Amino acid sequence: MRIPFIAGNWKMHKTPGESLELAKEINDFLKNNEDVDVDVLICPPYTSLHLLSKLEGRKVKLGAQNMSHEDEGAFTGEISPLMLKDMNIDYVIIGHSERRQYFCENDELLNKKIKKALEHNLKPILCVGETLEERESGKEKEKVRKQIQSNLKEVDKNDISNITIAYEPIWAIGTGKTASSDDANDMIKFIRSIIQDLYDEDTSKNIRIQYGGSVKPHNIKELMNKSDIDGALVGGASLNSEDFVEIIDF
Ligand code: PEP
Repeated sequence: MRIPFIAGNWKMHKTPGESLELAKEINDFLKNNEDVDVDVLICPPYTSLHLLSKLEGRKVKLGAQNMSHEDEGAFTGEISPLMLKDMNIDYVIIGHSERRQYFCENDELLNKKIKKALEHNLKPILCVGETLEERESGKEKEKVRKQIQSNLKEVDKNDISNITIAYEPIWAIGTGKTASSDDANDMIKFIRSIIQDLYDEDTSKNIRIQYGGSVKPHNIKELMNKSDIDGALVGGASLNSEDFVEIIDF
């Protein structure tokens, strides 16, 4: 049984004070609605993580938006997985399309980050997805297959249960365009078939796969009704508690 998994990626938004306010609102909802059987994760900027890790009675899970592929050293501006673990952070987003596009993170580096996160018991959310050009030329599956094969290279089968994959078509991120629920489900089924080829059927049935790209309160239900979509990675709509709570409460 795959438990639904809703994650909020706050990107470069919210000061520590604003983060605390938003995290409290989301946490209060979870405390008052214990029957909601959904794993809920927020990924604020690094500057808010320590403060939020101390939130009293914390139900909401905490993740980072990125991490270094090294443990420590002369890497100005980077954050080590050990620093995240020390703050009791459980999850880390790896390979968000904005990291791939604006910070030139390539598949080889992302494979190192995935292995490093697993080595330190951090649970990676691996983001994959195609550009509009790739979709329009019918190359979307080829692209996603290549990303998964290289990002999971030499990752042990036993570690896959700690990984979530987020299928995020780049053309749907922050644009208000959502993939149709059928197209999203079709790609997510395809991702399961890749996992089956790389590992086995059980592994492919158990891995949680989210959809991301302009998920909002009005489209979450339809997405979550699909057979293979286990949750959502939410950007813009995770920045206010009303919308995010509606999404959690799909
Ligand atoms: C994202 O940042 O991963 C994302 C899907 O953003 P948005 O929901 O704003 O499209």
